[in-house]
Amino acid sequence: MVGAAEANQRFSRLLSEAEHGHDVIVTRRGQPIARLSAMHNPESPAAPIGRDPETSIPDYGARVDLIDTCKKMNAIGLNQGTSGNASIRVDGGLLITPSGLDYDKVSPSDMVKIDYEGKVLRGGKAPSSEWHFHCRVMEAKPKAGALLHTHSINATTLACLGRGIPPFHYMIAVAGGRDIRCAPYATFGTEKLADAVLEALDGRLACLMANHGMIVLGRDLEDAFKRAVEIETLAAQYLKALAIGTPQLLTIGEMEVVLEKFKTYSAWADPRR
Ligand code: 13P
Ligand code: ZN
Repeated sequence: MVGAAEANQRFSRLLSEAEHGHDVIVTRRGQPIARLSAMHNPESPAAPIGRDPETSIPDYGARVDLIDTCKKMNAIGLNQGTSGNASIRVDGGLLITPSGLDYDKVSPSDMVKIDYEGKVLRGGKAPSSEWHFHCRVMEAKPKAGALLHTHSINATTLACLGRGIPPFHYMIAVAGGRDIRCAPYATFGTEKLADAVLEALDGRLACLMANHGMIVLGRDLEDAFKRAVEIETLAAQYLKALAIGTPQLLTIGEMEVVLEKFKTYSAWADPRR
């Protein structure tokens, strides 16, 4: 007979094994009578028993932030429905939004972890169809922590005219240079689009994509979101100015002065520095 203390000790040991990520078979007199399933990935810190297993998945906080940012983009009209996507840099790759899913219906575990070649490292859903440009851009811009893609009305209207945004306003500097380029059209989700985007983003934190939308980089999701809001506002202002006349453009020299000032202007300090 096994005494109560000994039984308790044995049970604690089995629980601890399950907590450390092992499936445990409980036996009595050598016969299996129950299974304790591991509640989390052994690479992640042990989750206390009783805690929601969802919260113990790796990069849980980053996953929640990614969903919240996508919901925020929809709420203020930067995106609509399942248009657009987002990624955030994490250890060993990127977390990217799943393809074609409603942000109100996704959960943190639906965010897909991929490496810089687009190989899925963790997740049961297909990554955003735009994984090519997310991977290529984030690999090429190691100081950026997040990338947002929008189909926002005003930036997309300009992109449908194949027009970027020239320095009609000094705030163009939030995109990291003296103008915002528009990448030539290529089919969504293709490597060709990623090539075009990479070129348009040379020395920049944002670009438009012809007949498609906008891409914005940031130090983190909050920074990228702030820049996306500003660029969409600039696009609206530029369209309004175009509607009644020919906007007066700032010179390269004037933009150089602003860009220099932005290096130390806390609100918009360039995340590449
Ligand atoms: P996904 O839902 O696949 O991310 O596609 C949305 C999009 O905007 C494609 O350019
Ligand atoms: Zn798109």
